[in-house]
Amino acid sequence: MTGDQAARTAVVATVGPACADRDVLRRVVEAGAGVLRLNLSHGDLDGHLRMLALVRELETELGIPVAVMADLPGPKIRVDAADVEALAEGIELDVVEPGGVSGESSPTITIDASKVLDAVEPGHRILLDDGNIRLLAIRCADEEGGRRVRCAVTSGGDLRARVGVNLPDSDPDLPAVTPRDLEFAVAMRDAGVDLVAVSFVRHGDDLRRLRRALDDSSDGGRTPGLVAKIERPAAITHLEDVVEASDAVLVARGDLGVEMDIAEVPVIQKTVVAAAVRAGRPVIVATQMLQSMISQPSPTRAEATDAANAVLDGADALMLSGETAIGRHPVLAVATLRRIARRTEAWRDAGPHDHGQGSDGEVSGDPWLPAIARGAHRIAAELPVTAMVAWSQTGATALILSRGDLRVPLVVLTDDAAAARRMRLLQGVVPVPVDADLELGADRARFLDAAGRCLVERGIAKAGEECVFVHGSRREIGRPTDSVGVFSLLQDGEES
Ligand code: PGA
Ligand code: MN
Repeated sequence: MTGDQAARTAVVATVGPACADRDVLRRVVEAGAGVLRLNLSHGDLDGHLRMLALVRELETELGIPVAVMADLPGPKIRVDAADVEALAEGIELDVVEPGGVSGESSPTITIDASKVLDAVEPGHRILLDDGNIRLLAIRCADEEGGRRVRCAVTSGGDLRARVGVNLPDSDPDLPAVTPRDLEFAVAMRDAGVDLVAVSFVRHGDDLRRLRRALDDSSDGGRTPGLVAKIERPAAITHLEDVVEASDAVLVARGDLGVEMDIAEVPVIQKTVVAAAVRAGRPVIVATQMLQSMISQPSPTRAEATDAANAVLDGADALMLSGETAIGRHPVLAVATLRRIARRTEAWRDAGPHDHGQGSDGEVSGDPWLPAIARGAHRIAAELPVTAMVAWSQTGATALILSRGDLRVPLVVLTDDAAAARRMRLLQGVVPVPVDADLELGADRARFLDAAGRCLVERGIAKAGEECVFVHGSRREIGRPTDSVGVFSLLQDGEES
């Protein structure tokens, strides 16, 4: 991977039957997927734990950090049972909760969640199978087994087993993290997962509560980064709070497009990406990115353009779902997404063009780091440097340096393998794990020596070229990053 060939935009690939094979998964990683997503809505926990172990093996084999993101199912409501298969437009049927009895006069659909129909009122929509089948509530009756909602089918279709149920008008009081989600999150944390994606977040407290539960139940294991999936109206209402409580944000356009008017989705994407960029949080744009590549070897023009626009919006990462999980071309889908991203980045960098551009992102707290980062960015923008190289122990320095529109590769050395993996979500960052015994962090000469060698070995910079460096010299007084400057790469054998 050299500086001008690699796309800076990160790729998240969802693991599924199409790429679960060791060899295919290796090629998905080699094609540029830095984050692998395990979708806990499917399969069993043991299977996901085995997959995590397999990714760790591949990581060692390939010598590239790879982050694993466990995506929690959240309070997704599903159809549990139905005594009808074909739902014709205009017919009436009943929707009931577990324990509800079948109606005598009309077909009955039983959902798998309790207490949620209490929020449904006449006039509300009940959407099945991602909105492919649409019901309208016309009458509600409270019975012993819970509420029975009489509905009219406004858009019919064949009812498949266990399809999702969305209640876009009702906003039932469903915490984003169910007891089962918490169990999953704890098990995945104990196995060393890097990121946990939280589905159907409503407000920051959903994330803060999970973070506390994970912190409190830990016997030393680090709490994974929490990725807030923006996919229901309440999350938009509380956007700033959700972003603030998160470590990263995911625009989940699948459920978003069912929960809200599809016409809202494009502007919501731009609003969410901008809010994340402002707050200095990495942001992923997800779902149907290259959808047609599930069956075809190339994407539609609209898909290619959508991916490019997400890059221009300022997304750190683009996510593939079915394309890699169940598609016919998982490796090609990753490669194609990277190619589109790379071309778009080159056009953006040749600007100025009139499109939304990332800001630095404000990271609150420590005033040192933002000032050092601004200095480093300023140098990279004004001087003819080839790359930036930084030391980042925890990933905080990597995060802040990756905000804004840095136009040179950012190589980050760290002696923390988990921090290196999490950096695979950040645009423009090439994480390089190094041996802790080298103690490179605080010693400038040794750091620059190792950094220079790493830049040359990876073909990112050549001898004689100038690079920006960022590191810390005074760890012992709590100033982990305090030095920025320019150094030139030496010829082989030259003394520093
Ligand atoms: P999902 O989330 O694939 O877990 O539903 C993504 C989305 O809703 O877009
Ligand atoms: Mn979703």
